[in-house]
Amino acid sequence: MDDEKKKREKFLFLPEAHNGHFIITFDDSGQAVRTPPEAPPAAVEPIPEPTPGEYPCPCCGYLTFHIPIEAAIAGICPVCFWENDVFDPGEDDPSDENGGMTLREGRENFRKYGAVRPDLVRYVRPPLPGEIPQKSGENGA
Ligand SMILES: [Zn+2]
Repeated sequence: MDDEKKKREKFLFLPEAHNGHFIITFDDSGQAVRTPPEAPPAAVEPIPEPTPGEYPCPCCGYLTFHIPIEAAIAGICPVCFWENDVFDPGEDDPSDENGGMTLREGRENFRKYGAVRPDLVRYVRPPLPGEIPQKSGENGA
């Protein structure tokens, strides 16, 4: 039985395990402790806190773009998930950036589902207060 016990202790004091995201170490009580690697992989950038943009999304109209949409190459609206198409195909022409969807279809889907495609609903977030456009001269009814 002593042998059995030794084996178990050996396991508990396994020094380190790497899984690519965390370094797993074990503390004195044998509890696994996950620590992120010191240098995060270069491809992963920290997700910045969302801040309201200044330029309206062509699809949902919320101010989600920080640069003019003519310059926002591959910019994806966080509220409706429309991918900005700098070639601006117009209301009823298919947008290559959006898998051939037209802006009109994107808007209709956003109204219906809350995103430009039903399967993208889980990726979107509600608009920030600062992203809701203030209509000047229209102060509600
Ligand atoms: Zn949008």
